[in-house]
Amino acid sequence: MPHHAIPDRSCGTCTLCCRLPDIDELSKPANAWCIHCVDGMGCKIYQSRPQTCRDFLCLWITDAQLGPEWEPTKAHMMVYTQGPQMTVLVDPAYPDVWKQEPYRTQLSRRALEMALHGGYIIVFVGDTVFKIEPST
Ligand code: SF4
Ligand code: SF4
Repeated sequence: MPHHAIPDRSCGTCTLCCRLPDIDELSKPANAWCIHCVDGMGCKIYQSRPQTCRDFLCLWITDAQLGPEWEPTKAHMMVYTQGPQMTVLVDPAYPDVWKQEPYRTQLSRRALEMALHGGYIIVFVGDTVFKIEPST
């Protein structure tokens, strides 16, 4: 899995990964703004941000298989992988977006591809967790 940005993809004004995930180093719970984030502008402590933040790139930044519709600010979801698991964090303000097209079909197909190598996809909407069923 490449861990560098593909051409023409950058965070821009997106700050979704400063809100949706929990971040232990910052004692930040899931679905709460990091206290260092200015909405639409970014990190107030960019030069001294924790290593977790320095190392993180969401999958839309690194994986061309996710098309422009997956740009986090449009999709209202952010995606990352860790070992065999692909995680989809859904903005709780758009709880059903992952069930809508084109996302539903793409997630099912990707789950099928991943299942061939022992992988799987988990979707988090707030405290609710779903596993994507593989299908074509
Ligand atoms: S969710 Fe992805 S695109 Fe958005 S700020 Fe984080 S790494 Fe950048
Ligand atoms: S420290 Fe900065 S980069 Fe890390 S979550 Fe907070 S605002 Fe985002």
